[in-house]
Amino acid sequence: MREAVDWKTKYRELEAEYEKLLAENKVLKDTIENLRERVEELKKQERPVVSQAPSTVVEEAAAPITTIEELRDTLKRLVTKIAMILQAEKCVIKLYDKETGELVAQPPAFGMSDEEVKVYRTRATQGVSGEAFMSGQPIVINDALSDPRTSKEFVGLLGIRNSLTIPLIVERRDEDGRVVDKIRVGVLKVFNKRYGGNFTDEDVRLGLVLARSAASVIAQARLYLEALEEKRQLEATLESMLVGVLAVNNKGRITVLNQVAAQLLGTPSENGVGTDYKETVKDEKVRDLIRRTLENGEEIVEELVFNVGTSERYFQAQTAPIRGDNNEMIGQVTILSDVTELKRLDQMKTDFVSHVSHELRTPLTSIKGFVATLLADTEGYYDLETRREFLQIIDQECDRLTRLINDLLNLSRIEAGRALELILKPVNVAEIARKIVEIQKNYTSKHQFIVEVKGSVPTIVADEDKVDQILTNLVGNAVKYSPDGGEVRITIEEEPETGGVLIAVKDQGIGIPKDVIPRLFQRFTRVEGRRVVGTGLGLYLTRHLIEAHGGKIWVESEEGKGSTFYFILPPAPPPKEE
Ligand code: ADP
Repeated sequence: MREAVDWKTKYRELEAEYEKLLAENKVLKDTIENLRERVEELKKQERPVVSQAPSTVVEEAAAPITTIEELRDTLKRLVTKIAMILQAEKCVIKLYDKETGELVAQPPAFGMSDEEVKVYRTRATQGVSGEAFMSGQPIVINDALSDPRTSKEFVGLLGIRNSLTIPLIVERRDEDGRVVDKIRVGVLKVFNKRYGGNFTDEDVRLGLVLARSAASVIAQARLYLEALEEKRQLEATLESMLVGVLAVNNKGRITVLNQVAAQLLGTPSENGVGTDYKETVKDEKVRDLIRRTLENGEEIVEELVFNVGTSERYFQAQTAPIRGDNNEMIGQVTILSDVTELKRLDQMKTDFVSHVSHELRTPLTSIKGFVATLLADTEGYYDLETRREFLQIIDQECDRLTRLINDLLNLSRIEAGRALELILKPVNVAEIARKIVEIQKNYTSKHQFIVEVKGSVPTIVADEDKVDQILTNLVGNAVKYSPDGGEVRITIEEEPETGGVLIAVKDQGIGIPKDVIPRLFQRFTRVEGRRVVGTGLGLYLTRHLIEAHGGKIWVESEEGKGSTFYFILPPAPPPKEE
């Protein structure tokens, strides 16, 4: 019996199959639709990549650069984009360095290490970069290894197969946008076209557009770097100044506060800028000066005292208003200059004048006294020996006056910058020392003099009078500054290094305070509170006399124990500079 077909069931099955197919078809249709949309989208995306690329770079150029990090980031994005657009493995900008005449690769680059960038510099007149830079024309190299124009050193080092070099030209425009100037600043280098290709004419055209926008980034970067350098220099100048500088705007905010001012006012400079001066400036007098200048535009000069470390120092405070373009007041500036040294010098000069007057009057009084006594003696009251003694004192006092006047003449000669004239001949220092000791013995009975000559001492070529003056000053001081007497020892020996003579004058006197030693050989230096007369000129002149011979002087001393002055005279003075 044939099995009966259940058509009804069959129909249902077919219907279900059809439904299923329909559903699948819908999925396929959707998928195709989706794919088509994606393709369209991709197509749309692809076009702008090529056609809009240069303008994205231009946008980059328009963004103002305000920090060094931003500049680096901008350059990094720029080289990366150019490499992407031109499908290159490497991209770097080389800038012309006026000082060295080289085209120097600038970090950051794309596809190159910092070390590679550092060494990549070539002469602006040589190689492919040089040719593009000089001619202002782009250059394509298809086979870097065999092309005679390439530098094989860098071809090898950077692994270059082919390249595109485009000159970077910055255009300066006037207000109407007309180009008034074109400056060649460097070249843009793009290496190794990806996927084994070469750089095409299309790449060159694109490269030229990219280079133009790159140049404008560089122009801006240059301006920025110049401004940065100016600012750095200004800051360095402000910081290296020995004066304190403090500026306040008309709202009372501190705009400039250099290290010196900050230290004087006891505020860290980085915390001071931007704050209200009324709170930051603790010194009432300075605050008052700032206020007066801000209120009335007054220019004020005043002397103030600050405690610096443990010492008191004198400062001249000078304030002035800062005016804007229309002469309106936009703030004020205060300059604080340390005048302690000037005041000290001023005081020293005053003291010097009084010491010199005293030094002149003492021998004159004595000369006048003895001469008057001798003149008054018409009866012959004084015997011959006493008269001789008087005359000897007059003679010595005249010598003292002559020495003082010579010192003053030498001082004015040195101050005027004129070299001391030397009359040279062979000199035996030991002999001069012995002679001086004999003279000194006439003035004192409390001191013992010893001249010690160690070994054989060379005869030197020097100015005898001046060597005499040097030793007279040092031995005179040794006597003057050991009021209780003691030994004054002059040691003379050969100085092995120069082949000249080393002389030491040692006393057992009052010594020199440590803090005075650094300025002992400066003019007018005297130790305060000593009752010994003097001008503070002797050691200053002695130093100059020794230095005129090409020698040097120094001292070792301990207060209360005595001093030793050492000096070296070379075998002969150095030849004079014309
Ligand atoms: P003056 O003796 O005319 O004051 P100098 O230039 O010769 O000037 O000396 C400067 C100062 O150095 C002196 O005032 C003195 O205080 C100190 N001085 C110089 N020589 C000695 C010494 N041998 N011992 C101690 N103090 C000295």
